[in-house]
Amino acid sequence: MHRDTEILRAGYPDHDSSGPFLNGPQFSATYVAPGEPSQHRYTYGRTGNPTWSAWENALGAIDGGEAVAFASGMAATAAVFGTVLRPGDVLVLPSDSYYTTRLVASGWLDSIGIKTRFAPTRDSAQMHELDGARLLWIETPSNPLLEVSDIELLVRAAHTHGVLVACDNTTATGYLQHPLRLGADFVMASDTKGLTGHSDLLLGHVSTKDPARAEALRTWRTQHGAIPGPMEVWLAHRALATLAVRNTRQCETALKLANTLSGDKSVNAVHYPGLASHPGHDIARRQMDNFGSVVSFDLSARARAETFLRALHLVREATSFGGVHSTAERRARWGGDAISEGFVRFSCGLESADDLVADVKAALAKS
Ligand code: PLP
Repeated sequence: MHRDTEILRAGYPDHDSSGPFLNGPQFSATYVAPGEPSQHRYTYGRTGNPTWSAWENALGAIDGGEAVAFASGMAATAAVFGTVLRPGDVLVLPSDSYYTTRLVASGWLDSIGIKTRFAPTRDSAQMHELDGARLLWIETPSNPLLEVSDIELLVRAAHTHGVLVACDNTTATGYLQHPLRLGADFVMASDTKGLTGHSDLLLGHVSTKDPARAEALRTWRTQHGAIPGPMEVWLAHRALATLAVRNTRQCETALKLANTLSGDKSVNAVHYPGLASHPGHDIARRQMDNFGSVVSFDLSARARAETFLRALHLVREATSFGGVHSTAERRARWGGDAISEGFVRFSCGLESADDLVADVKAALAKS
C-alpha cells in the first residue's frame, strides 16, 4: 500500500458495517473498572484514554515504532531526557537546536548534574563529541537555521560509542523523514507544527522500537502528568488525514519560494535544504522524502525585516510553523539563536504558490 494511503487510514478502527470512520473524542477522567485494575485497559484518565490509543496507533504506524503522546513537544523532549539521563551523564546537543531544548539542558539538566556538550548540526559535527556520552540528541533540519546532519552516520558513530540517539523530527515531520528506520533509538516531534498543521493545538510525541523504553515513557507521563487532552488529540488525528496532501503542497511552494529568494540580490542568504547550494542538500536528498515547509532567509537589518513583514498581505506575522496558513517572523526577536537581526523564518502554508511568491516579491520591493 502507498504510504499516503496508509497515513489516511492510520489509527482508524476497522469498521466493517457501522460506526464513524474515526471515533469522536472520549472525555473521561475515570472509567467503570470493577475489581482487579490490571483486568481493564482504561481505569483513570491520566493513565490512558481510547482517543490517545487511536492517535498513538497512527503515530506508531507513521514512525515505524511504538508511539507515546504528550501534551506538547517540550513535554515529549523532557520525557526522553527524564527516562534516559541520570546525574553524571553527558548529553550531546546541537548548538543550533531549538532554543528551549538548549534552555532545558543548561537549566534543569545542569542543576541535577547532567552535563551537555554542544556541537553544530552542520557537517554532523556532533560526531566528535560522543566519547563517554549517554544520549545524542539530533535535530535535522534544525530550527530555525535549517542545517542538516546525517542521521545514519551519527547513529552509527553513537552506537559504536554505546550512546543512545534521539532525533527531533519536528521540522521534517514523520511524513518526510524516518529516523527510526535510520537506526535512531527515539524519534521525538512537536506535533503542534506540520504534522497536525492547523495552528489550533499543542501536542508532542516520542516513538521508539524498544517496548521497555516505550513503557518507561508511559510511566513518566503517568507520574509527571504531561498528558494530552482528548479534544486536542482527536483534532490532531482528524488533521492527519490530510498530512500527505498538505505537506506535499507546502514543500512545492517552499521550493518555489526558496528559488525566488535565491535569485533576489537584496536577500543576503537563503536557507532551504531543497536548494542545491545548501551545504546539507545531498544528505537531505538521501534521508528526506522532501525538504519541508520552512524557508529561512536573511534580510540583514532588523528594520528591513520588520518592514518586509508589515508589507506582506497573505502572511501572518506569527511564531511556530507548518500550518495551513503561511506565517513569518523575525526570529531574532526571541533571542538565543546565532542569527542576524534581519533573519526571517517563513513557513509556507496552502495558499497558491503564485500568490504567495507575488506577495513576498512585493513586500521585498517595499522593504
Ligand atoms: N522542537 C522543535 C524543533 C520546535 O520547533 C519546537 C517548537 O517550536 C519544539 C521542539 C517544542 O514544541 P512545543 O512548542 O510543541 O512544545
